[in-house]
Amino acid sequence: MAVLADRYGRHFPYLRLSLLEACNFRCSYCLPEGYRATPGLPAPLHADEIARLLRAFAALGMRKLRLTGGEPTLRKDLTAIIALAAASPGVEKVALTTNGCLLRKRRAEWQAAGLTALNVSVDALERERFARITGHDRLDDILLGIEEALAAGFPSLKLNAVLLRGLNDDQIPAFLDYLRTRPVSVRFIELMQTGTNRAYFERHHLRADALEAQLQADGWQPLPRAGDAGPAREYAHPDYRGRIGVIAPYSRDFCAGCNRLRVTAQGDLRLCLFGNVGIPLRPLLQHDDQADELQATLISQLGLKALGHGLHRGETGLTPHLAAIGG
Ligand code: SAM
Ligand code: SF4
Repeated sequence: MAVLADRYGRHFPYLRLSLLEACNFRCSYCLPEGYRATPGLPAPLHADEIARLLRAFAALGMRKLRLTGGEPTLRKDLTAIIALAAASPGVEKVALTTNGCLLRKRRAEWQAAGLTALNVSVDALERERFARITGHDRLDDILLGIEEALAAGFPSLKLNAVLLRGLNDDQIPAFLDYLRTRPVSVRFIELMQTGTNRAYFERHHLRADALEAQLQADGWQPLPRAGDAGPAREYAHPDYRGRIGVIAPYSRDFCAGCNRLRVTAQGDLRLCLFGNVGIPLRPLLQHDDQADELQATLISQLGLKALGHGLHRGETGLTPHLAAIGG
């Protein structure tokens, strides 16, 4: 079987597919003014186009799919897309990244359709602080949704928190308390500079190194990296049921372990979150008999993947904000 590999020997069993750009939240680091439709932007891929895309990636060795956005749960056909993904040959994990707005209402049906992992963005555990960062006073509802998922034995639950100097850096002890009794993982993500958040980035960017040093001083042990691990550095502690992951895109080894590709909601293949190239796949998603051409295109485009991003040089590539590409 052909598999997706690049000229640096990296393999790509992991696809992140954005289901739509739109979002109902106004996270201050992502869409501070709320989502505004890009003029002329075509509709997101339809379910039948997504089905063809997933078939091609599955045939080329995809093992894990993450559905993201924008806010992917705003799509009416999300449950059907989860079921499609879960039924794709070889796919072992179907994950969803969400702001949690529909977690309570829909989690059971997503789970029944085959969803195996949920990442819920929770940037603060204090109600007002959460509302200030996201523009929505929804923390209590979201945390309840997480409790219900735990009680229902949901297989993998992670909270995503973007580290923000002066906005949530005093929340770390609250997150640690939360992890003491719950088998969930909190991922602290270093704020990334995008095309539209430069001033914000300069004000609120906080390097993860200091946090990692503090965690280690407090007895958190770094876990050995699994061969197929993503970019998070994972920590565990004997007194805590939960784990911590740190995602530090500015660290030197971040790109070396890259195992993911992205497809935007309109069907552009992005070889890197911060790359300058978008390869339109949509024209190859119109008929079932384009399957071979689609696979051949994916294989040849991987030859263009760069070794690393240029974020250190302030090169943010095509990404105006992460909602546009699927963070
Ligand atoms: N709307 C969903 C959500 O918020 O979980 C999915 C899309 S969102 C773009 C995916 C993840 O990217 C979220 O965890 C969010 O906090 C994170 N994110 C967005 N902008 C970011 C930035 N500039 N730097 C770091 N993480 C960011
Ligand atoms: Fe929406 Fe997610 Fe961006 Fe927040 S981080 S504005 S929830 S897309």
